[in-house]
Amino acid sequence: MPIKLTPKITTLFQLLTLFLLSFSVNAEFYLTSDEQNWLTQRDPIIVGVAIIPPYLSNKLDGDTVEGLSLDYLKLMEASLDTEFQYQIFDSYGAMIEAAKQRSIDVVFGATNTEQRRHYLNFTKVYSHLANKIFTQKGKYQQAEMSDFNGKRFAVPRGTALVSYISNNYPDIEVVQVENLGKAFNLLTAGEIDGVGSYASAGYLFSFMEGIDNISIVGSVGFDYHISFGSRNDQPLLGTLLDKALATVTVEQRSEIESRWVQPEDTQRIDKETYINSLKMLGFILTVAGLLIVVFWNRSLKREVLYRKEVQKEVSFLAYHDELTGAYNRQFLIETLSEYTRLAYSEDRSTCVILLGLDNFSLINEFHGQKIGDYVLNRMSERLESRLSGDAVLARTGGDEFTVLLRKANNHVVLSHLADVLIAEISSPIAYGDQSFSLTATAGISIQAEELDEPLRLLEQADLALHEAKRKNRGHYLFYAIDMSDKLKEREQLAKALTYALNTEQFYLDYQPQVSLGTGEVIGFEALARWQHPDKGNIRPDKFIALAEQEGLIVTLGDRVLRLACEQGRQWLDQGLVFKRIAVNVSVKQFIEADFVSKVLNTLEQAGFPPSKLELELTESVFLGDRKLAKETMEKLTCQGVCFAIDDFGTGFSSLLYLKELPVSKLKLDQGFIRGITKDYSSLQIVKASLQMGHALNMEVIAEGIETPEEQSLLTELHCEQAQGYLFSRPLKSQLITAEKIAQIQQSVILVTEA
Ligand code: C2E
Ligand code: MG
Ligand code: MG
Repeated sequence: MPIKLTPKITTLFQLLTLFLLSFSVNAEFYLTSDEQNWLTQRDPIIVGVAIIPPYLSNKLDGDTVEGLSLDYLKLMEASLDTEFQYQIFDSYGAMIEAAKQRSIDVVFGATNTEQRRHYLNFTKVYSHLANKIFTQKGKYQQAEMSDFNGKRFAVPRGTALVSYISNNYPDIEVVQVENLGKAFNLLTAGEIDGVGSYASAGYLFSFMEGIDNISIVGSVGFDYHISFGSRNDQPLLGTLLDKALATVTVEQRSEIESRWVQPEDTQRIDKETYINSLKMLGFILTVAGLLIVVFWNRSLKREVLYRKEVQKEVSFLAYHDELTGAYNRQFLIETLSEYTRLAYSEDRSTCVILLGLDNFSLINEFHGQKIGDYVLNRMSERLESRLSGDAVLARTGGDEFTVLLRKANNHVVLSHLADVLIAEISSPIAYGDQSFSLTATAGISIQAEELDEPLRLLEQADLALHEAKRKNRGHYLFYAIDMSDKLKEREQLAKALTYALNTEQFYLDYQPQVSLGTGEVIGFEALARWQHPDKGNIRPDKFIALAEQEGLIVTLGDRVLRLACEQGRQWLDQGLVFKRIAVNVSVKQFIEADFVSKVLNTLEQAGFPPSKLELELTESVFLGDRKLAKETMEKLTCQGVCFAIDDFGTGFSSLLYLKELPVSKLKLDQGFIRGITKDYSSLQIVKASLQMGHALNMEVIAEGIETPEEQSLLTELHCEQAQGYLFSRPLKSQLITAEKIAQIQQSVILVTEA
């Protein structure tokens, strides 16, 4: 079986050296006629070969061999256009003997020695091999040739190595053997102490023979520089071989070398070194691997830790509100599903208390998010402190907290808890030197039966909250079945309002305001009206509240302002005399960033003088950022717009804001006016408000005057302006004419006439 050696790559440097040492550039092949004649006339050239790997390896089929030298010889045959005849010898020595006897013409590979030059001519060197010292494994770590003085050292018979050792190390007992195989067998058997051979041959033999207990321990100090030898009695043959060898290209040499020469040979690496290298490489790789594993492990640990942290954070965030740390909606829903399922099977009810912070948006909008966040955190803490262990507190909206309770269906207990929670929210919160007060409203729902859809319980609490906000702000309401219908109705109404705002369904009525001193109509309050096609007139407090809840209030307010300014312009054009038109402005409108420009643009577009516009604000505007409110008001007052405080006395009254802000009028709430002639406290409030307004140089107008007694009393108290059914109900704009105004003036009972 042919030995196929894995092709190995020699270094470029080695190939280059080989090339420079051995040959010049590939010569153009040219034979003289003498050479040509000689070649054609003579008998086939006999090439002696012996099995010396890698030059020649095992016979293929008795007559053929393969190997490095044979590859060269085949190329040379082709160049010479001839066929060599190969004679295979059992040993290298036998071949050399045949050459000496001139029974062969060419020696396939030999070192050029003086001794051999007696019978051989040599071509240029075509291969180099370093000879190594082989010993039994473990016998030597390192060795030199002199270490074998007095010892038996085997060398293939007839090789140049025999004479080299004999000449240079006469004390070494050279044992000539037929081939390397035998030498290695003797070595492993312990019959000799060392073997001299080039590394690749040693490697190959050990490979072939399965010998694995030999080591390379040093260099012989004599390298083979292999040439072709030809009998020197035929000088033309030598010339022809040289010429033929010169035709082998660098690429072909490279290809042959890489096919046959082991890397440990060309790079002076023997089997042991090779194995050691492999071991070293293995070691390095193992260490590197270990290091990588360690580092990888570390970074993996870090990664795992990091991931765990992230995971923790992610799972925390998945179920918690980032700001307050309370549970979030997701957790609430999942827990609710679990509770409602369990509750049914255990015949116990689950309860939801939904708490809405009233007017929280004002704190956020006026004092900034930082304070808003602080307030929410404190609220969360307070609520938590009031809840028992198995209650779940979740922040389910910007200004909403939800409490989930198990086994809770007792109305009395739940009512008490709702009161406690609302009271917790309502007690003032200090932030630096500021103090904030909020109120809360709650909606409560209790699981009545098995819930297919646990979210229904949340929806019911939400409905109850909405209802409580409308009817019972600052308190709680339990869910009732009709609330669902009301919700549907509200949703439909909001849709209808959105549509109505741009149609004639939506319009303004104007209620005259009179001077109690002169009786003249000084102005009108614009009051929004909605004429629903099916439901008829819908009361403003109903649709205004709806617009607030459904986020339509700004659109509605813009529409009112435009209609009022346009109407004012029209009246002026008609020659109607009046001082002002008062327009109600909701807080949400007022705090819009573009409020000032919107108002001024509307005035300009309508051509209505700013000095004839009065904006009615409620006290809740001043709950928030007073500085911002002041700026907004000042920007408009410097254009001539003036401000009135509507429903004065009902809101979060603070005398301070009256001093700070450019308010020119107070509108006393009709609730006080209603009781002015009947109850002492209303009278006192009205008196105090009048005094305060006057002290601050403000006009005071009383609204909701229905009786002459009320008017008389207010006139006595020096209230200078009034608005009420006594003088006129709110009127459609087209009804307001000079005649109508004169008629209204007539209805005012002047003091002098009284
Ligand atoms: P308000 O601004 O305090 O308006 C005065 C309300 O008192 C009006 O009710 C008016 O019709 C009513 N009123 C006037 N005189 C009397 C009286 O002698 N007796 C009685 N019982 N009521 C009297 P209206 O028009 O129903 O408006 C109710 C509220 O709706 C307004 O109170 C105001 O807060 C709001 N509103 C009306 N129009 C608008 C608007 O365009 N924008 C905003 N934001 N709110 C508006
Ligand atoms: Mg008003
Ligand atoms: Mg009012």
